[in-house]
Amino acid sequence: MLRALFLAPPGAGKGTQGPRLAAHHHVDYVSTGDMLRAHVAEGTELGLAAKSVMERGELVPDGLVVAMVNDRLSKPTILPGFVLDGFPRTVNQAEAAYAWGRDRGTTFHAVVQLEVADDELIRRVVERQKHSGRTDDDLATFRHRLEIYARDTNPLIDYYRQRGILLTIDGVGDVADIAARIDAAIAPLDLTS
Ligand code: AMP
Repeated sequence: MLRALFLAPPGAGKGTQGPRLAAHHHVDYVSTGDMLRAHVAEGTELGLAAKSVMERGELVPDGLVVAMVNDRLSKPTILPGFVLDGFPRTVNQAEAAYAWGRDRGTTFHAVVQLEVADDELIRRVVERQKHSGRTDDDLATFRHRLEIYARDTNPLIDYYRQRGILLTIDGVGDVADIAARIDAAIAPLDLTS
């Protein structure tokens, strides 16, 4: 059973490839962005705390996100497999994810890094906003999200490369081709443990 996470800038295709990969391996898909948007829509305490931060294109504080993910991953159905999208986004969150796995004697099999150049990301998001209406997809906010990604999330590339589980995938092209690249990179892995 696959335990993977996606590491990719906003607009790189996590929301397309993540659910597909999870369905392909019959595991749960867990997206912190989707979960946080649901909290905002429902007006929960977490949603109220997260709303303005998300609208500014910044990151919700680590403590809040880690508690939300711990809660979700503690559901009895989740192990032995899942695909995480949008988490971890900071080194602190990665340390929390590592501690979560260590406590359960489990590790990630793969970190799928989708590589897409900034100008292509901007082109895609201008398209996406026409349909999504997401306020954090407006151009100025999106550029800010890219800056935050470069500052806070890019360090995770080395973090996971050093642990030998980073799979770097070219995220440009047809959705089906990108899916095939991801599957080909995961195919040789031992998912039995
Ligand atoms: P996404 O849909 O993954 O692009 O996430 C949308 C927004 O939700 C981000 O811009 C952040 O404000 C917030 N968010 C999602 N995941 C996290 C996370 N792991 N840590 C902090 N903020 C997050």
